[in-house]
Amino acid sequence: MNIRFGDLSRQYKSIKKEIDSAVADVLDSGWFVLGKNVELFERKFAEYCSCKYAVGVGSGTEALHLSILSCNIENNDEIITVPNTAVPTVSAVSFANAIPVFVDINEQTFTMDPSKIESRITRRTKAIIPVHLFGHPADMDPIIKIAKKYNIKVIEDACQSHGSLYKSIKTGTIGDIGCFSFYPSKNLGCFGDGGMVVTNNKKIYEKIKLLRNYGQKKRYYHSIKGFNSRLDEIQAAVLLVKLRKLDEWNDMRRKIAKSYNDGIANPLIIKPIENKYTRHNYHLYVIRTKNRDRLRKYMKDKGIETLIHYPLPIYLQEAYKFLNIRKGRCPVAEMYSNEIVSLPIYPELKMNEIRYIIDVINKY
Ligand SMILES: *Cc1c(COP(=O)(O)O)cnc(C)c1O
Repeated sequence: MNIRFGDLSRQYKSIKKEIDSAVADVLDSGWFVLGKNVELFERKFAEYCSCKYAVGVGSGTEALHLSILSCNIENNDEIITVPNTAVPTVSAVSFANAIPVFVDINEQTFTMDPSKIESRITRRTKAIIPVHLFGHPADMDPIIKIAKKYNIKVIEDACQSHGSLYKSIKTGTIGDIGCFSFYPSKNLGCFGDGGMVVTNNKKIYEKIKLLRNYGQKKRYYHSIKGFNSRLDEIQAAVLLVKLRKLDEWNDMRRKIAKSYNDGIANPLIIKPIENKYTRHNYHLYVIRTKNRDRLRKYMKDKGIETLIHYPLPIYLQEAYKFLNIRKGRCPVAEMYSNEIVSLPIYPELKMNEIRYIIDVINKY
């Protein structure tokens, strides 16, 4: 057996005809930036999320960056987030000249622990960015309650949680703004970079539309300083095809997660949980074990590729040494960064491969 952590060619093969024809249509049309595919995809994605507005942007990082800028955040304002996330969550904060403030995570869900937020709020706190890590929704109700109390914005990092539900509501639409990534390996991914901002707030929507397109309202008339951060027509055409499959693919991931939950019975392994109030999209299936390098080597020798999401809390990364945050700040996140292992989980994983992975883990 040789099981890779991900294999996007399998997915392409399953929808090759529709994708090829959608891309060919864009090439034939001769129109590549901000056209009818982007508009239609924005509408369909907003519909899928049951929210009013969606704006296609260049990436998930850009979705976060522009969202932060749309909240009128000033130099040295503070934004509360978690240290166990993809680094772009925090790069977006830095590029908006804001300061990231880290709170620890819940021991069961790997997501922001709402009870740790209030002690970190200062006069400069302007926003909270919870991350729906691995596709498991953060506990939004208490987060929003705190945000309302202090009049600060909630920007959801939904880059891993396409289709995940929190109390029957789509993640990304619970706070003020939701940010999605369409990086190829996400549950909904394009063939390059792409992202989306969703919101029910018209002012924020209009500001993001300006920011993504040089700050221009009318062609060659610029009302604010802007960027070039646009989803392109080819990616939007691909995403329109794939959006139709998203729920089915998420269900297949959930089935694989159930097989892992039912099948893995090694006492050295702690399996992930899905809280009652959520519907997890299983972007990643992350187990924990004390001697994780040994487990990873054992699995690698048996032909199974695993990854670590993520090996180092952000405030311990070299790029963020300037924050002067010492080891020990977020003990749960730090401990988990040494114990986690992500198993292969994608809709096209075959039954015999799933059984083999379970078998290898149980023999470890
Ligand atoms: C992928 C990801 C991002 C960044 O998205 P890009 O499209 O790669 O810029 C941000 N946050 C999280 C949690 C992610 O998983």
